[in-house]
Amino acid sequence: MTLTNADAAARARAVIPGGVNSPVRAFGSVGGTPLSIVSASGPFVRDVSGREYVDLVASWGPALLGHAHPEVVAAVADAAARGLSFGASTPGETELAELVIARLAHPAPDAERAGGESKRAIGRLRLVSTGTEATMTAIRIARGATGRDVIIKFAGHYHGHSDGLLAESGSGVATLGLPGSAGVPADIAALTLVLPYNDRDAVRAAFEAHPGRIAAIIAEAAGANAGVLTPDAGFNRFLVETAHEHGALFILDEVLTGFRVGSAGWWGLEQSSGEDWTPDLVTFGKVIGGGMPLAAIGGRARYMELLAPLGPVYQAGTLSGNPLAVAAGIATLTLANEDVYRRVDAAADAVATAAHEALDAEGVAHVVSRAGSLFSIAFRPDPVHNYDDARAQEAFRYRAFFHAMLDAGVSLPPSVFEAWFLTAAHDDAAIERITAALPAAARAAASASPA
Ligand code: PLP
Repeated sequence: MTLTNADAAARARAVIPGGVNSPVRAFGSVGGTPLSIVSASGPFVRDVSGREYVDLVASWGPALLGHAHPEVVAAVADAAARGLSFGASTPGETELAELVIARLAHPAPDAERAGGESKRAIGRLRLVSTGTEATMTAIRIARGATGRDVIIKFAGHYHGHSDGLLAESGSGVATLGLPGSAGVPADIAALTLVLPYNDRDAVRAAFEAHPGRIAAIIAEAAGANAGVLTPDAGFNRFLVETAHEHGALFILDEVLTGFRVGSAGWWGLEQSSGEDWTPDLVTFGKVIGGGMPLAAIGGRARYMELLAPLGPVYQAGTLSGNPLAVAAGIATLTLANEDVYRRVDAAADAVATAAHEALDAEGVAHVVSRAGSLFSIAFRPDPVHNYDDARAQEAFRYRAFFHAMLDAGVSLPPSVFEAWFLTAAHDDAAIERITAALPAAARAAASASPA
């Protein structure tokens, strides 16, 4: 008997809270039955009923090369045959750290080899298992380095689910319309100042109001968890300069953008466009592990060497630097060359343009927000600069749009607050299936009404 997604969801709900291991998978904001996926390959995912969808979730970012790339799978299988976890250092960890450090250079290391000089964003890297751990540790390093407690984050930015970072957060917190999370002690929440994104006056005012107390500013390199929130020109540089003026650190969160929007992440794109700044600490996740649980914190050696065993800032992990995850990361970064980024960019251009044209043809007020190959659609006429803008939209239209696409075999992120993810495996045929589905979805969006 063929299973259905509804069967799978009902069975899951009896043993897993909400039937999911991460809230946005429950389809809460779009309604309907969540997909239960059994396999994925290239640009496709397949559900328990055997139905195939063109996938624009890409595991929420990691699948840059497409799902189950044969060389990545082979690297993981090879590593598995040699042992799943040792609880000791491995040569692969060093190789991955070297790859990442070499990539976070501008101009790219190739230019350096040709005789030029590269500016390097990071000097040391430590591997962890999730983006949440990476940002949590980056903040601990910043507090250890400065002896200060308060941090600045931006409304609508998501940095994982550690206590101090959930206030006015993006991603699932935005999807569920929550101010933060129950269970976070008020004293801890009080150490996080939440500011409107792209608002320089608010940043200056926060430093004036809390002299000598702010350890760090943490910001997504380009916001992509409340829909795409692109930083205004020069905003990241302003954050670095302002933090430094006041003796604080700047933590650049590239968990989502790192190795996805370009070989040196969003930082690399800004350097190429003439911006000149260097973060103190950088966090990575998602693509760095090619779909396996792997993330990292990098930064200037003087800060990173505050970590145990060299320094007083403690951090550890039984599965940190897991050999299977490291093998997937090395294979993914090795394969992710400029051609891959060109293909992902071209696929994103094609899909974003087609979605815009389909919605335009139906007279649906919308705006496409872009940050490199990441984009999202907000159902409002004006550009989105911050979280308030992102919330001020006709999100009910996305519900109808999403389900029309799903009915046509295209799996979009199940929340208007998430970016659409293309991969290098989205070839012309996959893009054609997406574009063919768009006119009916745009009609559904046009005729949707608030629930
Ligand atoms: N930082 C950013 C920018 C993210 O997008 C995410 C996850 O979506 C995280 C941190 C947390 O990563 P993880 O889900 O691996 O804990």
